[in-house]
Amino acid sequence: MNSEPSTQNKPIPYGRQHITQDDIDAVIETLQSDFLTQGPKVAEFEQAFASYVGARYAVAVSNGTAALHLCAMALGVNEESRVITTPITFVASANCVRYCGGTVEFADINPATALLDINKVRALLESKPKGYYTGIIPVDFAGNTVNLEEFRKLADKYGLWLIEDACHAPGGYFTDSKGQKQLCGNGNYADLAIFSFHPVKHIATGEGGMITTNDEALYQKLLLYRTHGITRDPQLLEEDHGGWYMEMQELGYNYRIPDMLCALGVSQLKRADAGLARRRGIAKIYDAAFANAEGIEVLQTSPEALQGDSETGHAYHLYVIKVADRKGLYDFLRTHNIFAQVHYIPAHTMPYYRNLGYKKGDFPVAEAYYNECLSLPMYPSLTAEEQEFVIGKVKEFIG
Ligand SMILES: *Cc1c(COP(=O)(O)O)cnc(C)c1O
Repeated sequence: MNSEPSTQNKPIPYGRQHITQDDIDAVIETLQSDFLTQGPKVAEFEQAFASYVGARYAVAVSNGTAALHLCAMALGVNEESRVITTPITFVASANCVRYCGGTVEFADINPATALLDINKVRALLESKPKGYYTGIIPVDFAGNTVNLEEFRKLADKYGLWLIEDACHAPGGYFTDSKGQKQLCGNGNYADLAIFSFHPVKHIATGEGGMITTNDEALYQKLLLYRTHGITRDPQLLEEDHGGWYMEMQELGYNYRIPDMLCALGVSQLKRADAGLARRRGIAKIYDAAFANAEGIEVLQTSPEALQGDSETGHAYHLYVIKVADRKGLYDFLRTHNIFAQVHYIPAHTMPYYRNLGYKKGDFPVAEAYYNECLSLPMYPSLTAEEQEFVIGKVKEFIG
């Protein structure tokens, strides 16, 4: 065994789930019920989540990627579609377009926030005749919130739809031009929004996802596509043969999420505000520690998410710093059992997207960001001592 003296502490990951006895009890209760898959907890989770983000409808699905796929289907993405998204995201944000045969059009990021740069999107739209592009998928990257009001204006001008990838930002918000808080996923600006319940995200169900919308027609399509395109709704059936009768009306998938995972989701959601407050508290401590640290840059909160000193709409899925010797810092932290992570390798530089014609150099801001970014540990159960240890090691390496 190779034991180094510097790795005495227990591993500190960049993100992790927080499971309480209440969560465990909720899952066990469902295991002992009559429903392993589609039971009452699915609708309960959907209603609780819709109310949490302020949307009219919510559809629970098997994971965030399935949520994106269903959104692309419901909006009619096909071989003719050209959809704009950011290269600094988890690849699923782009892949959903490919699942439906559409073309992914990346646009570069804003260097200060690492969010999709609306000016780059505007320039793309202006460079082609109206109708060339089909939709935009902005991402609330790191939990920093996109100004969807601005994206909506642009989308309306060019007749585009919007899917908000809000996987990093349940509970986050931006402030609109009237000074109103607009919660991520509330459906006021985006046609559809999606969330993930992967263990590193704010709310963990193991695997799981959610779509929110205020659009009833899209909601009905999502319900159909989630379960093979099959309906039993008497109002929708074309024929009626008897009690067993159902119809497959569209080509859908099995993207259902089991009842026991929804029970976990309901239980987790009850602590979502506390977890979010804790994330914001951790961010404040990092902010203060790195404010005057030479050689360390922190990502800026988008202006619409910032409400003075005391309040922020940033949901802090990640806390990202930028340093010149990122690999050096990453390796150094690992020797001290701190498992920082890189978010993200620009999607357009992945071999799959390079084979579709993208190349390194296409999005220089995203690529420069990638060379320097590192996500530090950020999760509600991170202790003050652990955070202090992380800050100390980062400063030790930089200084
Ligand atoms: C996690 C994530 C997804 C995909 O969610 P899964 O539940 O893992 O499929 C999509 N987009 C972003 C930005 C994510 O962080």
